[in-house]
Amino acid sequence: MPDSQSQPPHSSSGQTDTATLLLRGARLTDGRTVDVRLGGGRIEAVGTAGSLATPSSGSRASKVDLDGYLLLPAPAEPHAHGDTALTADGPLSYDTQEVQRRATEASLLQLGHGATALRSHVRVGDVQGLDALAALLQARRALRGLAELTAVAMPRVLTGVAGADGLAILQDAVKMGASVVGGCPDADPDPTGYVEAVLELASEHGCPVDLHTDAADPARLARLAAMAGGLRSGVTLGPCGGLGRLPSEVASRAADQLAAAGVTVVCLPQGGCGGVDRRGTAPVRMLRAAGVRIAAGSGALRDVSNPVGRGDPLEAAYLLASRHGLRPEDAYDAVSSGARAALGLPEVRVEAGFPAELLAVRGNRLAGALSLAYSRIVVHRGRVVARTSAVREYCNSAAVAGLDLPRQGRGEPS
Ligand SMILES: [Zn+2]
Repeated sequence: MPDSQSQPPHSSSGQTDTATLLLRGARLTDGRTVDVRLGGGRIEAVGTAGSLATPSSGSRASKVDLDGYLLLPAPAEPHAHGDTALTADGPLSYDTQEVQRRATEASLLQLGHGATALRSHVRVGDVQGLDALAALLQARRALRGLAELTAVAMPRVLTGVAGADGLAILQDAVKMGASVVGGCPDADPDPTGYVEAVLELASEHGCPVDLHTDAADPARLARLAAMAGGLRSGVTLGPCGGLGRLPSEVASRAADQLAAAGVTVVCLPQGGCGGVDRRGTAPVRMLRAAGVRIAAGSGALRDVSNPVGRGDPLEAAYLLASRHGLRPEDAYDAVSSGARAALGLPEVRVEAGFPAELLAVRGNRLAGALSLAYSRIVVHRGRVVARTSAVREYCNSAAVAGLDLPRQGRGEPS
């Protein structure tokens, strides 16, 4: 363990902690080494290393030594599927307790990676009715104080004869606590009618919209963008992998329309949530160049559409940098500030006054952290809520003698 003085990662308190926590000797992306004092769920002060007083030894004050760690705004997960997560190895059950258990476990996995806020899509209607949503909302309550989990209600059909039931259940889902309205318009017999219905209901309830689309049909996407521009609470689309298969001038025109409508695109570079034939990632550089708001998420976490899904925001950022050529800073932005903006959460910077939602990763540069970052310390509402420590040792040989490699107990190479 890098530090035995720090406070334990677990606590039963669900409220914003009023205790003070001092993060000592953390490296920032601008190269400074600083102390950061947290209190009341916010960053109270940032000063040069050693400049902030160590909290008095009272029980309400503690400190964490972040020597060797890079301190970042915490990631957020803008596109999870909590109701199907962790089902790759067994039958998919919508039993309430089972869904709650899996959604909680999946969220904790993602929290361990650094995501202190998560938005999870959940199916409503058909056989499961509102059970899966109820289970997800129970998981939300169980996770309070550890991570912020919100639910997107996904009805199947909203038009035609079956559409009346879908609309009724969507109304109920929003009243029950789904804070976002979503679904897959492309799976409805009338995709445009579906989008109209979703936007109308969202406008009525003042909730944001988060829709699934492959975005492979430019005319349909243009109609969607035209309609989305009118919704004040905002529209998010994902994963839009089909945009990458369109001729570049067609995709470019679609990107301009999305930018003009203020639509956020959540891309899923780790494999998405739509099965093997929908693995393409949205063309992030082209979208960014057109001025489209971008975020990156994980999608499926070990369900049938991606049995090896990891739910790791740093992996999503790594793929944006390594496969799509984004600068490491821009790639990390997509999983942190971009993702938080997509979720309607306030901005986080490592500066006084901002929310204390932080991720410390072993290393001293962002590129290195995206390359390899096993050891992580996650802070939510000013408290350490998860800690992962990795230790790698090499046998003592001439090859390693002259290198500055980590010694026992000093964490991973970075
Ligand atoms: Zn999805």
